[in-house]
This record gives sequence, C-alpha cells and structure tokens, in this order.
Amino acid sequence: MKEKLPMTILLSLGVLGIILIPVFIFTVVLKDFQVKDFKEVIEVPFNTTFKEDKGNVCFGNKFTCKETTVIKTGEVDTSKLGDYKLIYTYKYKDKTLVKEQIVKVKDNEAPVITVEDKDFKVCPNKRDVNFPVEAIDDYEGDISSRVEQTLEGDQVLFKVSDSSGNVAKITREVNFIDDEEPTITLNGDATLYVKLNGTYQELGAKATDNCEGDISSKIEIEGEVDTTKSGEYTLTYRISDSSDNTKSVTRKIYVYAQNNYSAPTGKSIYLTFDDGPGPYTEKLLDVLKKYEVPATFFVTNQALTKGYDAMILRAYQEGHTIGLHTNTHNYNIYTNVDTYFDDLYAIQEKVKRITGYTSMIIRFPGGSSNTISKDYDGGAHIMSELTKAVEAKGFRYFDWNVSSGDAGETTSTAQVVKNITSSLGSGSTYVVLQHDIKGFSVNAVEEVIIYALARGYTFRALTMDSPTMHHRINN
Ligand code: ZN
Repeated sequence: MKEKLPMTILLSLGVLGIILIPVFIFTVVLKDFQVKDFKEVIEVPFNTTFKEDKGNVCFGNKFTCKETTVIKTGEVDTSKLGDYKLIYTYKYKDKTLVKEQIVKVKDNEAPVITVEDKDFKVCPNKRDVNFPVEAIDDYEGDISSRVEQTLEGDQVLFKVSDSSGNVAKITREVNFIDDEEPTITLNGDATLYVKLNGTYQELGAKATDNCEGDISSKIEIEGEVDTTKSGEYTLTYRISDSSDNTKSVTRKIYVYAQNNYSAPTGKSIYLTFDDGPGPYTEKLLDVLKKYEVPATFFVTNQALTKGYDAMILRAYQEGHTIGLHTNTHNYNIYTNVDTYFDDLYAIQEKVKRITGYTSMIIRFPGGSSNTISKDYDGGAHIMSELTKAVEAKGFRYFDWNVSSGDAGETTSTAQVVKNITSSLGSGSTYVVLQHDIKGFSVNAVEEVIIYALARGYTFRALTMDSPTMHHRINN
C-alpha cells in the first residue's frame, strides 16, 4: 500500500499535467486576434444614416481576450449610390490586424408612376400611344421621359426602371375611339368675288383629323358657281373621318356684273370724295376706271392740293362729277354770306380754269348740318341762310347718308369697308362720304365696289338731276 501511494499521486499529477499544459499553452502562449461578427460587405439604403459596424475583435484567445484599439479609414456618403471601402486597423500592443469592409449604398426603391385620372382614348387605327405620364425616382428624380407605354390588349402598360433596375409598372384600361371632329379650313378667303363670265377657280380646303392626319382628299364640295349669272353662291365643304365625325365650312362667291350706270332705276350708290385732290386721287381714279364706276369729287384749293390740278382734269374727262367743296377749307368762310360766296366762287373759278366746266354742285364744309359755323357767324344762323341762298343762285348742294368715318375715329381700310357696306340696304339712294386725301380710305374703295356690284347696286355720279340728299339744318 505504501508503494502504491506515490504511483497514484504520480498518476494524478500526470492527468493534471495533461489538462493544465494545454490550458497553459492556450492562455499564455497561443494568443491572436479573435474576430467575430465582422461583415466584409454591408448594404445601406440610399439616403439613410450609415451606422458603423466594425464587428467584435479582441486580442487573446477564447479564454481571455483583450480589447483592441481600432482605427477606421474611409467614409461612406449615403447620398450617392456606390461601393465605399472602409479599412479597420485593430491594434493590440505591437500587434496589428487590418480588415477591409465594402459598404454598398443602394437604391432599392422603385420609381413612382403617376398618370392623370382620365379617359384613355386611343384612335382605332393606332397601335402606339403617348399619354401624359410622370415618373419620379427617389434617387434620380424626374425620369418621366423614360416611361415606356405599350398597348396590351385593351390596356396600356406604363413601365419604367431606374438605373438600379427597380421597375415600376401601372396599367390603365383604354378606349379605342375617335370621337373628335376633324378640322377644316378654307384655302383662300371665305368670301370671293368673280366678274360675270369670268373664271371661278376652286381653291379647296384643308382637313386634318386627330387620328387620320391630313384627310383633305376626302373633302366633298356641295354647291355650284355659275359665273354666267350674277348673284350670290354658297359652297359647302364637308369632311367626315372614318368614325363619321363630320365638320363643314362654307364659302360665299359673288358673281358681279360690271357697273351699269346708265341703268335707269335700282339701288344706287353715289361715292363722293371731299377735300382733294391729293396724292391718292390718281390711284382712286384707276380703281374707278377698272370697274367703270363714276363718282363725285368735291374739290378744294387748300395747300395740300397743290400740284394735283391734273387729277381734277382727269376725273372730269373720265366722266366723274367735279363738285365744289371750298377754296380754303377754313371755317371762317361762314362769317357771313359774302365770305361764303367769295370762297365758293374762287373754287368754282379754279375748276372752270382747269376743265372749262362751270360746276353748280356743292357740298358745304362740315355738311349743311354743321354747327361749327356758329363759331364764326355771330349768331346769324348762317346755314339756314346759305342753304336757301345757294339754291336761289341755281346751285344744288348734297350731304350724305353713309359715312365712312374716315375723317373721325376710323383709321383702317377694313373699318372703312365695314362702315360703308354695313350701311347699305334695300334703299334706292346711298350717298357715301369719303376723303381722297386719306390713303387708307381710298384703299377701301375697290372692295366696296365689288361688294356692292355683287349685290346688285349701281354706282352713279351726282348730277343736277340726282335725288336730294340734305341733312337737317342745325344753325
Ligand atoms: Zn371737307
């Protein structure tokens, strides 16, 4: 027994040694960095706060592990997609461990597609669509221009993907229909004038359809123009698209006869021109000649007529009436009867000198109804006196019942045309007041003539036999 005891002790010590030596080796000798939970790749959503994750690293072994110091280099900018490299350097005394970590900043959110809440109409003949659509991506912003639209059966698919491959899709039911009218516009004016026995040239029209484009070739024209008969003609231009949406426009064509001033009766227009002659009188005479329209010129001798005497002669020779307006066109002629007649005889003399003709047709400056004479006559009611006096001497005076407005508020050719033509009705006598010293007014004459000829009026010059046209006397 005594000998056995040391054996047991020795054995026990041996077993203890077997256990303790590795423990010793582990705890004292085998030491290194212990790495746990370190991620080599981390994903971070765009625009979120990046939380650093350096894992668990210590120095030692599984039984005893000491904290290390850590130095991180590298930065992560989560506002920009991409891969960012972080380097962690762990240190314990003179031992160093370097670990790399890749941080991926990613966009995982799909864009948002918005379409207006409406009827998605598609032309029956079309397979491509282009509806207004908006697509907003959280990272790229507005990517509307990248939205693809495709028809799939009776649906339209809107699809877009952002640069990270996140896809958004929406669908809407479509309605294959064309319920829009085509548009149709005339080539040329809506009112045309053609001389009797002249040629009417069809200018056609242009039609455009929302689905079918230019469909002008499908326009049908209803109506006829007979240029051998004067009168008013209406043409209707009708267009229908393939879905039977119809639209039409009309054109008026007036076939007018040459002015026949020798015709004894009918609706008569007396064009009268005051205050000239002037720089526009020649052009006016050309237009009147073209249409064989005689007119009446109430001439003056005011400064601006200087150099235009030949126009008085030409007007006279071409059959127009030369009437007397005033020599000076100064309203002081209304001071008294003598001052008026001195002025009147002066212009009468001038006309006679140029033409050899003694005119007895007059128009009072301001018309017989003027009140400006009150400023000069000292309360003598001179217009009442003069209107009788001129007739007693064998003159005839003419006022007007159609004003072109060219001496007042009107300053455009179009408005002069409108003022005159809108005053014409079914009456027998229209005396029109214009001024041939106004270019814009002279420019209106041709349109007025054509308009009236096409509606059966006859143009005449005032003569000693013309119907009376007197205003009410106001002074
Ligand atoms: Zn005048």
